[in-house]
Amino acid sequence: MVEEIIQKIVEETELSEEEVKEQVNSKEEEFKGLVSEEGAAHLVAKEHGVKIVKDVDKDLKIESIVPGMSKANVKAKIVDITDINTFENSDGEEGKVRNLVLGDETGTLRMSLWNEQTEVADKLDKEDVIEINNAYTREDNRGNTELRIGSNTKIKRIDEEIEEVKKESGRGGYKETRIEEIEDENKYLEVEGEVVQIYTNSPFYRKCPDCNNTLRKDDDYKCKEHGDVEPIYKIALPMILDNGFKNIRCIVFNETAKKVLGAENIDFAGDLEKIKMYAEESKGKRVKVKGRTQYNDFFDTIEIVVNELDVRQTEELLEQKIEEMKSV
Ligand SMILES: [Zn+2]
Repeated sequence: MVEEIIQKIVEETELSEEEVKEQVNSKEEEFKGLVSEEGAAHLVAKEHGVKIVKDVDKDLKIESIVPGMSKANVKAKIVDITDINTFENSDGEEGKVRNLVLGDETGTLRMSLWNEQTEVADKLDKEDVIEINNAYTREDNRGNTELRIGSNTKIKRIDEEIEEVKKESGRGGYKETRIEEIEDENKYLEVEGEVVQIYTNSPFYRKCPDCNNTLRKDDDYKCKEHGDVEPIYKIALPMILDNGFKNIRCIVFNETAKKVLGAENIDFAGDLEKIKMYAEESKGKRVKVKGRTQYNDFFDTIEIVVNELDVRQTEELLEQKIEEMKSV
């Protein structure tokens, strides 16, 4: 483990292996007898802002499962099993994806099953309690943690009870809130406001059609598993919602982004000019969004990762105005 931590620090900083080892040794010296070598390595990592996600053998509660884990063990109840969604991969073959929603008393988590993995769900039912060993985690498009099956992952049904599942989101789980009342991260809220700005500097990101991995510029947009592929262009648009009192940064993705843009049937396919045009035309729309608040380190503010969105129609707004006038 110490070696792994040292490697991680070397990878993420300008330091050489020798320099890291020296720093670990001097930390150990400094806290003589108080910290182990591993403890010292963790301290050094922390000083350089390198995040070490600990692989733990014991079962985790869902709330403590975060992106980037290479080994996660969890016992949870199956809250939902989605239907299979199919898509065409770059070889023209059919790909499949299916989700299990898992829950325990601390929260819920999505587990995605790809291709032949989808068969796992055939043997399971809602309300089953399962034990998962050696799964790994990723961050999904919306910033949520997603559990995934690797080659060493084991899943089995167990004879244990999980009585109460804490539901944080889902239909009806969004609390109607005014923008100026928003304070905390990780809240599921519904807010309304006018779209005053849409940022289109970099509205697209690319996904591998076969495995859904994000294709990064650093890798020349090649998939680590599938090499050169015809990418699927996904949309992520930051926008500013204003209610006349305060504004908040929101991020809309794909279908919800197209809804704001009034481009439900448009395939932008990476066309920057086209999406800029739609964005320009969409300013001033009044929308209602449902989503999760998160802290944005870069801007040092709370923002909303949007899950659902409705554009308020003019007639609807007029009716509301009339109702308001009647009640005065
Ligand atoms: Zn791929």
